[in-house]
Amino acid sequence: MARHSGGRGWYGKVVGAALGVTMLAVGASVWTAQADSVGGPSPKASASPAPGGAVKPVGTSIAHASDAGPRGVNITIDDGPDPAWTPQVLDLLAEYEVKATFCVTGTQAAAHPDLVKDVVAAGHRLCDHSVSHDTGMDGKSEAYQSKEILDAEKMIIKASGGVRPMYYRAPGGAFTPYSRELAASHGMRPLGWNVDTKDFERPGTDAIVETVQRELANGPTLLFHDAGGDRSQTVEALRRVLPWLAEQGYSFGFPVR
Ligand SMILES: [Zn+2]
Repeated sequence: MARHSGGRGWYGKVVGAALGVTMLAVGASVWTAQADSVGGPSPKASASPAPGGAVKPVGTSIAHASDAGPRGVNITIDDGPDPAWTPQVLDLLAEYEVKATFCVTGTQAAAHPDLVKDVVAAGHRLCDHSVSHDTGMDGKSEAYQSKEILDAEKMIIKASGGVRPMYYRAPGGAFTPYSRELAASHGMRPLGWNVDTKDFERPGTDAIVETVQRELANGPTLLFHDAGGDRSQTVEALRRVLPWLAEQGYSFGFPVR
């Protein structure tokens, strides 16, 4: 789970190159610049477009910025939906009036379509997290990558009752140029993260909260999980992190597309 799609090195380089300034100590003040520097929609995506032609291609670069402005953060919840944990996460998000992005696998979406519909009905966004969560898919054939991404897209759309995933997050961050272009041509912006809470490893609620507080300057996209095992620490951490973020003056948004 350690694979990272965009750490400090990337962040500092892009911001520095875009602005020609020294890296600022306060991460929030550079997040808006990040939105402009990650690249716009690419008209050159070579992958086949989505059937029907109704989907507008989006940028092919890996998005990290928030659409909620310079004090915006993106809560992203991966690997579900799961009947034990997703409802608890949804309750907390509702309690704190937070909209989040759920990166669901095709397998989980197909198994729990009612939960996918609950996610959508609450105003959250869907993200394609592949069919089977193969973190080695960047070493597999294009045919394999295509099947994992597009089959999941179909499974998610079916489970949601027709709502399309707006992002694609490669399992473990295992993107390839091909998978990014394919996803983007289907209207799914490749989605990275800035803060890996490591909640998947169950380090304890305190550790999850402290990771958010310590690493938030990395950028606005936070990674949590609502499936794959006992996620009670994640639920408890969100119960502390969401009000803390609000107290710090952050607002909750979606990743840019
Ligand atoms: Zn995942």
